[in-house]
Amino acid sequence: LFSLKGKTIVVTGAARGLGLAQSLALIEAGATVHALDLLPSSTLLSPPPGYNYHSINILSPSLGPLINSLGPIHGCIAAAGINQETPALSYTEEDFSRMMAVNVTGVFMTCQAVARVMVKYGTRGSMVVIASMSGSIANRGLICSAYNASKGAVKQLAKNLASEWGPEHGIRVNSISPGYIVTDMVEQLLATKPERRQEWADQNMLKRLSKPEEFSGAAVFLLSEASSFMTGADLVIDGGHSA
Ligand code: NAD
Repeated sequence: LFSLKGKTIVVTGAARGLGLAQSLALIEAGATVHALDLLPSSTLLSPPPGYNYHSINILSPSLGPLINSLGPIHGCIAAAGINQETPALSYTEEDFSRMMAVNVTGVFMTCQAVARVMVKYGTRGSMVVIASMSGSIANRGLICSAYNASKGAVKQLAKNLASEWGPEHGIRVNSISPGYIVTDMVEQLLATKPERRQEWADQNMLKRLSKPEEFSGAAVFLLSEASSFMTGADLVIDGGHSA
């Protein structure tokens, strides 16, 4: 039910953090992963067979041609994203637009390029967009209005793509909304205010932050036949933070 044997899956933001952990879980379930990321190489020192790394900006015009060159694709996780803490009163249009470009436009361009290949080969695949609990709440003590707006947008985007691509092409699209995960993105937000680590842990029902590996099961579930009737849904995995 959960096997991904013979499946080819594209994961963006897969050099480190959540995207890397999910890529490794998909490979363990039998998939071949094409790991796309801005970084020149993965932080993974000895990649397992099945982890094929491509250094690329998801906003680059070569994204479509690269994805098109991979042959039949059965799944995708759009995890590439950025965050920046900036008071709303001092945001520049350039910074705000950059957040939207990577977190929303980049996710859309990824899904579109993958969907075109799925349609071409008739693979009736599954896509996962990484949103955030921050797409539904205003995080207390964290000043990230553009990030939160971008995550609300991609959660909604996933539903619309599911509605558009499901009926004719059998493509499923769901989102995952994680709570705080200890990755480079969060370490950066904690660097200036270390006391936040405990404050943020105290805001959820399990009183701790999560690890990237705690999202692996969800990735395998959403990309496998185990979730065959699930589409247009948002899977909230935040230790009860937003409940
Ligand atoms: P991370 O910074 O560790 O990893 C993000 C990866 O995306 C990096 O490797 C980065 O190089 C890549 N990336 C950024 N811009 C890119 C671009 N233009 N093209 C290609 N690759 C690009 O962060 P993470 O915590 O692993 O985040 C993964 C996803 O999970 C993001 O979408 C993030 O918003 C989301 N998320 C994270 C948390 C958290 O607490 N860490 C919570 C909820 C959602």
